[in-house]
Order: sequence, then structure tokens, then C-alpha cells
Amino acid sequence: MGHKSFTLVLFMAGLFSAQAYPTSTTVVGETVLLNGQSYKVPKYWAGKRIDISKQPKPATLRALPSQLTLNKSRIYVTQKTKQALIKMVNQAKQDGVVLSVDSGFRSEQYQKKILEKYLKQNMDYLGLLQVVAPPGYSQHMLGNCVDFVPSELDFSKSSQYAWLKTNASKFGFIESYSEDNKVGINWEPWHWQFKSVNATASTDPPPINSQPSFRAFKKGS
Ligand SMILES: [Zn+2]
Repeated sequence: MGHKSFTLVLFMAGLFSAQAYPTSTTVVGETVLLNGQSYKVPKYWAGKRIDISKQPKPATLRALPSQLTLNKSRIYVTQKTKQALIKMVNQAKQDGVVLSVDSGFRSEQYQKKILEKYLKQNMDYLGLLQVVAPPGYSQHMLGNCVDFVPSELDFSKSSQYAWLKTNASKFGFIESYSEDNKVGINWEPWHWQFKSVNATASTDPPPINSQPSFRAFKKGS
């Protein structure tokens, strides 16, 4: 091996050790890159990074019927989530409770863009994280979560919330960040995740014609 290539090997070795990255299970020292700057992930989010391979491909997402969404906005979720949600909303309606959704799937990139926009407006990073998950950490990446209207703490006082507490689990939905959640994440009574797949799969209407636009961001994680 000539002198030159030996130097190169040393250089490469240095590169690799310098990039010795924490693994995804590492809880200490997780960071996110926003506007080209590295930010520490707060303790209560650490270790909760969502596996990017679990983010559904946009083409597999389905739009919710517009009568279910706030201002008839285009909101996308996975097919199973859509089926379960429609069943749940219909049952709620029969019980006299109207459920409306203002957020569903949000990509990691979208979440990043939102945070970067607010940071450019000089908003406080940790303050923002009280209402927005760091990019890569939001359950909305999974396409199986929805935020009900109004997506704010007062939702906990609504008849909708009371109905969900009693009935949502029958449809496979759980309150991810409940009042007494052990993980230390702020209470998000409006945020529900579809978990169960035990319901009999029925066939869904054919795929919708347009691609998700990843809009409909309000707040919350
Ligand atoms: Zn949410």
C-alpha cells in the first residue's frame, strides 16, 4: 500500500468514527436539524423517534370524506384508519355527537417545514415543542392518527371527548397522550390513534384521484 492510499484509509477511518452516530435506541443526545442548525430533542420526546420505514407512501393514503373534515379540507389517513374512523363517526352521529377532523397524515418533511417557519419568526424552540412534535417524532407520520376539532385542551370538556372516552376503543382508537400519560408529553385530548386491526376488513372505495397535499396543519403532535 502506497503512502497516499494509507493516508486515505486513515482519513476514512477518521470520518467513520467522527460520524459514529447514536443508534435509534439511544435516548441521550438526540438532535434534530432545523434551518441547518442542530437542536436537542427534549427528554420527554427522546427515544420516541418514529421509524421512517413505517411512514406510509403517499399513494397508499386515502382522503377522508369532506363532510368529516374542518372546512372540507383534504385530510389523508391510511385505508384502515379511514374505514374505522368512518364507522366511529357514524356511530357518534347516531348518538347525537358530531366529530370533525382537522389533521391526519403529516410527513416528517412537513413537520420540519412548519417548525422551521416558526423558528424563523423567532418563536421559542422549547415553547413550540409544547404543541408541535419534533420532526420525525410525530405519530401523524404513521397516517393512523387524527386530531379532532377543536384541537386544543378545551376539547377535554366537550361532549365529543366524553363520547370518545367511552366508545373510541370499540373502534380501535386510543388517546395517545392522555391526561395521566406516563411519558411526560402534554395532554392532547384531541389526538387519537387507530391501533386495532381486529375489525373485519371491508373493501374500501377506489383510490382517490389526487395526491395528498400534506396540508391541514393546525397544531399538536
Ligand atoms: Zn395530533
